[in-house]
Amino acid sequence: MSKRPWGYQPLQQRPDPQWSLHPDTHAVRAGLARSGFGETSEALYLNSGFTYSSAEEAFDSFADEVDHFVYGRFANPTIAMFEQRLAAIEGAEFCVGTGSGMSAMFASIACLVKTGDRVVASAAMFSSCYVVLTEILPKWGVQIVLVKGNDPQEWARALSEPTVAVFLETPSNPLLEIVDIRMVSDLAHKVGATVVVDNVMASPVLQRPLSLGADVVMYSATKHIDGQGRVLAGAILGSFSYIHEKLNPFVRHTGPSLSPFNAWVLVKSLETMSMRVERMNNNAQVIAEFLESRSEIKRVRYPGLKSHPDYAIAQRQMSGGGSTISIEFQGNRSDVFRFMNALRVIDISNNLGDSKSLITHPASTTHRRLTMEVQAEMGITESVLRLSVGLEHSSDLLADIEQALK
Ligand SMILES: *Cc1c(COP(=O)(O)O)cnc(C)c1O
Repeated sequence: MSKRPWGYQPLQQRPDPQWSLHPDTHAVRAGLARSGFGETSEALYLNSGFTYSSAEEAFDSFADEVDHFVYGRFANPTIAMFEQRLAAIEGAEFCVGTGSGMSAMFASIACLVKTGDRVVASAAMFSSCYVVLTEILPKWGVQIVLVKGNDPQEWARALSEPTVAVFLETPSNPLLEIVDIRMVSDLAHKVGATVVVDNVMASPVLQRPLSLGADVVMYSATKHIDGQGRVLAGAILGSFSYIHEKLNPFVRHTGPSLSPFNAWVLVKSLETMSMRVERMNNNAQVIAEFLESRSEIKRVRYPGLKSHPDYAIAQRQMSGGGSTISIEFQGNRSDVFRFMNALRVIDISNNLGDSKSLITHPASTTHRRLTMEVQAEMGITESVLRLSVGLEHSSDLLADIEQALK
């Protein structure tokens, strides 16, 4: 369809590596498939089905012998534009869009494992990912081993026997623990494991796990990729063989499909993602430094601060500290709630990676599903808040936090 090499690629083919363009250029160009009308902006193909010019064409389409869309659960032109654009930005061979971040996380691991298989994961992770790994997969006889993500010895011990998959989230939500992706990938590959990284907190802009040795990257596109609080979506990125041999045989039949409308929103969101994430990241750095200077605050965890225990690894594998800050207060739950209620610009919300700055109390909201022991292990206490820094002007955010601290 497109004469430009970075445009839309046929569905079943291994794409030519076109990664010589900068990710920012891919963000506005990759995957673009213009119709005969020559529209500038990407078209929204809001349809579930497709027709064929003959019975033979239908036959060949189902046999994957011609490049023809078959059914919305398998592929759709607008969803393909999103997938190809994100793959080009990430430097991945293939991408599969999904209806949510959780369906992406579940499918990325579930397509690899069977009864008796072993999965190793870092313990500090988004609470629904924790439930999938520790409650849902074990029901089917999958063995889960959790390690402290920032302890190389625990990883080495856990990865000293055959393992099918490794799952890790770095930075982790909400305490921003850092896992050394290169170190874990090297250990994992020696025992045959596929390394899946939940790259939600860093976003595709600040961290590129595939270039650090990981095999698969997954996103909640609900976060920075949309970044404007509109759609729920997810994505899984990896090699041609992972996507076609492992993932597609699973997702095509279990149906965690992305809606074409949401894919269209995301195609346009990708065009501004790096500008948004850079601004959020710069705002967060300024706010983290300010918070660290305040006596009301016991501890600020932010990968862009020298006080972060894994600052050196964060510097090596991320190009910024990210948009999320974890704040531990001096004081109890009611002091923390009073601070939240006094904010005038920053909203109370459990979402993150949004253009609007949002604050949440993980112990009573996002992570309440976890037992007190697991919360304590992760370091989540009643006095911890998670601040997702948005696109407002940093001076207004600083003023808002300062007045609320009073
Ligand atoms: C939000 C989130 C998810 C889940 O994504 P949904 O789009 O809400 O399903 C997974 N991992 C992390 C780190 C998240 O922040």
